[in-house]
Amino acid sequence: MEWLKGKVINMDKLIYLDNAATTQVYPEVLDSMIPYFTQYYGNPSSIYTFAGSAKQAVDEARAVLADCLGAKSEEIYFTGGGSESDNWAIKAAAEAYADKGKHIITTKIEHHAILHTAEYLEKKGFEVTYLDVDENGLISPDALKTAICPDTILISIMFANNEIGTIEPIKEVGEIAKENGILFHTDAVQAFGHVPINVDEMHIDMLSASAHKLGGPKGIGLMYIRKGVKIRSFIHGGAQERQRRAGTHNVPGIVGFGTAAKLAHSDMKKRSEYETELRDYLITRVINEIPHSRLNGDKIKRLPNNANFCFRFIEGESLLILLDQNGICASSGSACTSGSLDPSHVLLAIGLPHEIAHGSLRLTLSEQTTKEDIDYTVDKIKEIVMRLRNMSPLYEDFIKKEKN
Ligand SMILES: *Cc1c(COP(=O)(O)O)cnc(C)c1O
Repeated sequence: MEWLKGKVINMDKLIYLDNAATTQVYPEVLDSMIPYFTQYYGNPSSIYTFAGSAKQAVDEARAVLADCLGAKSEEIYFTGGGSESDNWAIKAAAEAYADKGKHIITTKIEHHAILHTAEYLEKKGFEVTYLDVDENGLISPDALKTAICPDTILISIMFANNEIGTIEPIKEVGEIAKENGILFHTDAVQAFGHVPINVDEMHIDMLSASAHKLGGPKGIGLMYIRKGVKIRSFIHGGAQERQRRAGTHNVPGIVGFGTAAKLAHSDMKKRSEYETELRDYLITRVINEIPHSRLNGDKIKRLPNNANFCFRFIEGESLLILLDQNGICASSGSACTSGSLDPSHVLLAIGLPHEIAHGSLRLTLSEQTTKEDIDYTVDKIKEIVMRLRNMSPLYEDFIKKEKN
């Protein structure tokens, strides 16, 4: 990144706290990928010996990824990322099981890759139930049971939320799905490589994951499909991926995904403890030192690296711009909602009124984040929130009322 320094932005001063949007590729990941651009560039579907190295690398990565999920190699299908996996799971499962019924259950807080796909299916004649969540973002297993009807063919509930970090009761959901003989898909893009997942113990039939959320490259993901699940091909063409996902394999991407997953799983416990401690330090400082602030999402059932706050009387967008001027990369929720003025659908679903949901800030850490980064960031947030409030007529009114 030498060429970037001093040219575009000052990389020395950069504090990157948006790891839920994407992560830096680990040096080991990049190293493992390079030979598959330069040396072993063959097409793994070709039959000559030269292509064998590429094929072997794809097989090895598949085995590593399967192992991380407690799955079998032949149940892992490579895709172009989390959004593709989500689209595939919902559309293809709906189509495959349409003769059984046309009802799908999901939640109000899914990523748009699920929500917009569900809305698309509604236009195609499917009926979708969007489960409510409580004030911490948790679905209710009882509400799920109630929502199930003879027509239900698919349940899709995210493993962990990308905005507020809440981890859903996936094992309970899996048990309910299994008892009722309904297919269960989970969007585990934020969870994979960050918290332990076992598809058998949790009764997961299909699962989406994406490499760039765990130190791997962008544009490569996977879908786990349990053996026996009937689902059509999403990309038609060649016979790759057991004829279920055509297209020449992204060999360097697949290799990088495998390396990233191996690294993430080998020190998951240590990293998770480090991030949790730093996250809780950040949360405590913000809540204690900034009046009229709140933490969004569950305190305990939460991704180790996620903190999400609302500050009353300010606009999240203004806060982000001023943080950026101080070299801090943060987000107001999901990268996909930025640019639109609608408040986050997740914050509305946990019951926040529009005016509070507008003042949101998501900070997502990595194992590279230091206590100094957090201290600097909290000091800046304090300063900026104060400055913005001093310009806010709403805050002025509030203070006047408080005095009376
Ligand atoms: C990032 C993300 C996606 C999309 O993954 P891409 O690989 O960027 O397409 C889907 N779901 C969740 C929960 C995510 O955080």
